[in-house]
Amino acid sequence: MPELPEVETVRRYLGEKLPGKRIESVDVRLPRLVRNRTPEEFARALSGRAFTGAGRKGKYLFLPLDGPESLLVHLRMTGRMIFEETPGPGLPPHTHIVFRLSSGRLSYGDVRTLGCLWIVPTKGPTGIPGYDTLGPDAVSPGFTGEILRAALQRVRKPVKAVLLDQTAVAGIGNIYADEALFLARVRPDRPSRTVTAEEADSIVRAVKAVMGESLGAGGTTFRDFLNGEGKEGGNVSNLRVYEHEGEPCPVCGTPIELSRVSGRGTRFCPKCQK
Ligand SMILES: [Zn+2]
Repeated sequence: MPELPEVETVRRYLGEKLPGKRIESVDVRLPRLVRNRTPEEFARALSGRAFTGAGRKGKYLFLPLDGPESLLVHLRMTGRMIFEETPGPGLPPHTHIVFRLSSGRLSYGDVRTLGCLWIVPTKGPTGIPGYDTLGPDAVSPGFTGEILRAALQRVRKPVKAVLLDQTAVAGIGNIYADEALFLARVRPDRPSRTVTAEEADSIVRAVKAVMGESLGAGGTTFRDFLNGEGKEGGNVSNLRVYEHEGEPCPVCGTPIELSRVSGRGTRFCPKCQK
């Protein structure tokens, strides 16, 4: 569920709080969340190292450390990375990994336990295929109408499937794909090769607009997303079509439809979107 704006919301908070703080100990309570090390190796690689910042690419959170290896995290459906300045006696709900810091505590929590953590080289390719093959970040200047049009021309898929393909553009998931295509007035099931250059420009502008709006509201929380402080985001009230099926389109009043595109629940206005 967390998409670019949610992960970026977490990154901004951790980017303020973590730099300079040293990891004193690591407690892995659910070993399978750590993908490329044993829990002991994971703790050994991180202990004694200090955070130097907080980065993000697409939906991945990259937490660099002052050594050869750093921490890469994907929250998947329900992951949370919560930093507490003055930790209380109890851990945040659903905590599976605890990082005790020189000051404060960082906890990885996950209701559905589908998230992933990896130890990766601080510099250069990570060796994690999903990360090393990411396309341009959806809010970066590198994501242009021209780049999107080229990706749309390369395949025969519905336009929404291309927006969800992280090698074409990184950071878009089901919510912002539907929201952006609604703003751009393009039907999610349109064959990708029929999208014009003008429409591709319009989709890119719409992606950046819905993500900027959500970032301003601290991300979207339906059920599980919590930011780096353990609080919910406020973007639900800004959504125009996602989870609004059956309700009137905010532009023309036609009921919003729900269909399936590439196996994903998809909301759109049958009148406004061509
Ligand atoms: Zn409409």
